[in-house]
Amino acid sequence: MAKAFENLELWWITGAQLLYGGETVKIVDGHSQEMVAGLNEGGVIPVKVVYKGTANSSKEVEAIMLEANNAPQCAGVITWMHTFSPAKMWIKGLQRLKKPLLHFHTQYNAEIPWSTMDMDFMNLNQSAHGDIEYGHICTRMRIPRKVVVGYWKSKEAQEKIAIWARVAAAVNDAHDVRCLMFGMNMNNVAVTDGDRVEFEQRLGYHVDYYPVSSLMDYLKKVTDAEADALVEEYKQLYTIKIDECGEQVYWEKVKNAAKAEIAIRRVLKDEGATAFTTNFDDLGDADITAPDFFGFDQIPGLACQRLMAEGIGFGAEGDWKTACLYRSIWVMNQGLPKGCSFLEDYTLNFAEDCTSSLQSHMLEVTPLIASDKPKLEVHFLGIGIRKQETARLVFTSKTGSGCKATIVDLGNRFRLITSDVECIEPKPMPKLPVASALWVPQPTFEIGAGAWILAGGTHHSAFSYDITAEYWEDFADMMGIEFIGINKDTTISGFKQQLRNNEIYYMLNKALM
Ligand code: MN
Repeated sequence: MAKAFENLELWWITGAQLLYGGETVKIVDGHSQEMVAGLNEGGVIPVKVVYKGTANSSKEVEAIMLEANNAPQCAGVITWMHTFSPAKMWIKGLQRLKKPLLHFHTQYNAEIPWSTMDMDFMNLNQSAHGDIEYGHICTRMRIPRKVVVGYWKSKEAQEKIAIWARVAAAVNDAHDVRCLMFGMNMNNVAVTDGDRVEFEQRLGYHVDYYPVSSLMDYLKKVTDAEADALVEEYKQLYTIKIDECGEQVYWEKVKNAAKAEIAIRRVLKDEGATAFTTNFDDLGDADITAPDFFGFDQIPGLACQRLMAEGIGFGAEGDWKTACLYRSIWVMNQGLPKGCSFLEDYTLNFAEDCTSSLQSHMLEVTPLIASDKPKLEVHFLGIGIRKQETARLVFTSKTGSGCKATIVDLGNRFRLITSDVECIEPKPMPKLPVASALWVPQPTFEIGAGAWILAGGTHHSAFSYDITAEYWEDFADMMGIEFIGINKDTTISGFKQQLRNNEIYYMLNKALM
């Protein structure tokens, strides 16, 4: 079980009633305990499922929902109706519930025992109509939830619950995320800006400005010995590759990069922040040639790469939305095999065989998606206020299918957009020493990229090989924001119709709220 989920629980509530007698409820209680134990022993769901008993009346349902709201360890509630649990019994509890909800349409018994089947057996295995009665009230009350259908012992059903569990853990985490902006958004950029107040109301993330001058106070206090120790760690982890800048400049720049990392790390810890943004025009004193200069001597790209790998959210150029989203994708991705990163659309490759898009950033891509051991390199970077030799990790990324996600502010709402992509092998780029990935949006480059633009997508994104669009759809449902996915079935005319439908839906939805 991944460490990030250790302190969390999912609460299982079985809906029943006393119509069939107390004895029946006792048996159902036993069945429920066995099912919950089965889910935990399956090893598929990364969050512990805790059985909270049968709920047999409106009062009992309301009490358990209020308890779930107030339990910080409870990331979500799983409900299952073993029998005909009259749904009016759920109205007050569902009105109260603030945690993510999953409705598991399953049954204790698998196959009907045809030759011995009698009415007693039926009374104990009535989910077929009990879950439907419950589903009706959820729909009538417009309660957002995930409905998982399948036998409780099946891996497929448990995998669906696992997806929801990871998302619930990320939503729970988002509530406590504080994102520090070292500097503001890059001037004139629209897509990285937005309504930070609405962002916190809707999604939970709290975004604050943090003075670069205060960050520089931290930098001043980093000692040479501390930086040297961190450089030793770099030597263990990465391939040291010294090129045109020469040995002296290489080690000076790497050491300064280590100092920047230590300073940023300390601010985040002291401020209780788990996400941050930078701005390459705001790195301390402006003039690096001034005799009393103090500041970052280079863009702190290496620090961003390394901190992202540890789960700290990051967005470049003041992109606080992507910084927060990266934090959440990392939480969801815990323990899954292929990894995630912040990425940016950089250069198109209109090739005869297959058009693709090169993903990179000036520096800031996390080695979690690397296909080989990262090389620690120092090269000149002619962008932003510094234009200096700059340390960075260089690698190419794994191949295979993945999904990129973003959140944009449309003025009246947030829209979460995903795009399924196929990552392919790039050709060697000896003159571009940065981390990168090369992908083809699905179903084709033309349709995938076109739909992303029509949806108003960003050039920055949170990318993962493991976190599919299904996770993001659950995420958007839990957060109460719009979701739109681009995949192998997307057509441009169908997608445009979906955008128009959503426009009306959210206009009306807003009016109802
Ligand atoms: Mn960028």
